[in-house]
Amino acid sequence: MTLSDIYEKAGVCRLPVDPVAIAAALGIKVVNYKTAASFFGVNVHKLYMQFPLGFCFKCSGILGIALNENSCGDRRRRFTAAHELSHCVLGHLDGKDALSQSEERNADCFAAELLAPLVVLNACGVNSSEEIARMCGISRAAADIRLMRLAERERCGLCANEEERRIAERFCAFIAAANSRKALSAYTNSRSMYRRNST
Ligand SMILES: [Zn+2]
Repeated sequence: MTLSDIYEKAGVCRLPVDPVAIAAALGIKVVNYKTAASFFGVNVHKLYMQFPLGFCFKCSGILGIALNENSCGDRRRRFTAAHELSHCVLGHLDGKDALSQSEERNADCFAAELLAPLVVLNACGVNSSEEIARMCGISRAAADIRLMRLAERERCGLCANEEERRIAERFCAFIAAANSRKALSAYTNSRSMYRRNST
């Protein structure tokens, strides 16, 4: 399943993205650790110790994500949910228990793109990690990496591929609103500059 398929299924057309709502739309169960502990018949403290943030599972045909309700910060929880969701949609849980290092890296990349799609950031003309963090509801550290990827993309002069064009189309009203807010703010700033210079 591609990212644009996921956005379409979950009706996502604006930032910030809610990975828990996406999981629900895709039929992936999202539970807290207390529910997960009783589902698996294990001590809840064992889960807190073994998985500080969250984990995903496939059990009796049920695909699910467990999130540590005590982990700190909405932004951290949002990224954890997106990371675990990525394992589920990328098929990493099919027929095995352990996840490989490359699957962990792929889940991180997919989660970053899910929460902060480069084509949308580019079309909105974002140019700082503060703006990315605020727009996408992610941490400054994660936003710094997205800003680097955005700069790399511009340096290489990459054009949007078919998948990215589909994503940009879904977000077109959001992109237009972000750009008109920017234009209005630039206009207001230039007017106040003019007033300052003319007094
Ligand atoms: Zn993982």
